[in-house]
Amino acid sequence: MADTTYDVAIIGGGLAGASLVAALQGQGLRIAVIEATAFDAIDSTSFDARSVALSYSSRMIFSALGVWDAIQQRGATPIERIHISDRTHSGLAHLDCREQGVAALGYVVDIRVLGQVLGQQMLACDKVDYLCPATLQHVEFKSDLAEVCYLQAGKEQTLSARLVVAADGGQSLVRQQSGIKTWQSQYGQTAIIANVVTDKPHGHLAYERFTDTGPMALLPTTHADHPTSMYALVWTVEDAQREAILSLSDDEFLTRLQDRFGRRAGCFIKTGPRHAYPLGVMLAREHVRPRLAIIGNAAHTMHPVAGQGFNLGLRDVASLAQVIVDAMKQQADIGSISILQTYAKWRRQDHLQTMGFTDGLVRVFSSHFLPLIVARNLGLLALDVIPPLKRGIARHAMGYVGKLSRLARGLPL
Ligand SMILES: Cc1cc2nc3c(=O)[nH]c(=O)nc-3n(C[C@H](O)[C@H](O)[C@H](O)COP(=O)(O)OP(=O)(O)OC[C@H]3O[C@@H](n4cnc5c(N)ncnc54)[C@H](O)[C@@H]3O)c2cc1C
Repeated sequence: MADTTYDVAIIGGGLAGASLVAALQGQGLRIAVIEATAFDAIDSTSFDARSVALSYSSRMIFSALGVWDAIQQRGATPIERIHISDRTHSGLAHLDCREQGVAALGYVVDIRVLGQVLGQQMLACDKVDYLCPATLQHVEFKSDLAEVCYLQAGKEQTLSARLVVAADGGQSLVRQQSGIKTWQSQYGQTAIIANVVTDKPHGHLAYERFTDTGPMALLPTTHADHPTSMYALVWTVEDAQREAILSLSDDEFLTRLQDRFGRRAGCFIKTGPRHAYPLGVMLAREHVRPRLAIIGNAAHTMHPVAGQGFNLGLRDVASLAQVIVDAMKQQADIGSISILQTYAKWRRQDHLQTMGFTDGLVRVFSSHFLPLIVARNLGLLALDVIPPLKRGIARHAMGYVGKLSRLARGLPL
């Protein structure tokens, strides 16, 4: 009979769950991953058509985990400069990697590339049981272990673990079943994403443009047919505009985009398929319980305006992995609440700061209130000319918030 006792059971093998496996593998832990959708599935909820901007500290974490070279070989486009502007107002600011003394402020990577690299890593590890497709049914937390019930191939199965990690996304069943409350609200905005091509090389420049219906981002990316002139577009629109924009023909869409964005990046000449994501903000009120830790979108979801969601989740992964490994060195119980509280306390400042910054950006830049419009444009101008302010914002964008984990400093666990 197969051994169903594990050290760690990770619920959800999306970006956060798969990254945690990459961090913990090789530490002598027996790990189970329960994931509802196969990695290569067309309708995967985690590894879909998006690109993500990885911060410089995420690149450091992936380098320390030994997966960055594989990610880079499959395609990671450096962001060397960021141009920030307020549509129809004068505010303008620039961030440049050279001013920060790094090769790039971040990197744009196809989310499926991350899925392939992390997935292969997970499958290659003999101490990891990847239970997929399998769906969590419920978890029962007992004093010395957690019992996890899941459905695989139509059969209900059970495993036990010293620690359950909820990495099951924004609608986390583990979080809900544990009765953990959240702070949350909807923005009434939808992100329309698409890959678009311009008639001008991107020069590794990303654009962040605030408009009265919500922010737009153009992230430089690479494609075999368009190696230097493709961008991943994230266009935030009000929910009421969503269907109208999705139903435009490609030519109409490009014209509307040009009108909204202007000509700074050149003329938009081609677009890929469009996809829509409703946008909200959510923070779990507790991130640990005895035998439970919550990471990634299960712990927090946010607006994609500043490209921070997964970067924040990866910093959860790096901190939790460090807490687990340090506890093992002291032969402590990795599921005990005292150990897990170290993780929760460590992450609090980063969660509040990153979510507060992102939420503030969305609300301040969507406002039509004149004094706020003046203040935000003065803020952008100040950002451009006050070096310490600029350095603070750039370091935040690069993922340097609060106490850094060993992995974020490029060190082994
Ligand atoms: C338009 C858009 C653009 C974005 N751009 C960026 C960006 O540039 N930079 C950035 O850092 N972030 C960005 N993000 C955020 C980023 O995509 C998310 O933070 C990240 O994908 C979350 O990963 P996760 O693994 O925590 O959750 P998810 O991706 O939601 O993964 C959860 C996994 O759990 C599985 N699961 C759920 N329930 C169960 C169950 N009951 N049983 C078994 N398995 C289950 C799901 O199948 C899924 O694979 C963006 C988001 C959006 C919407």
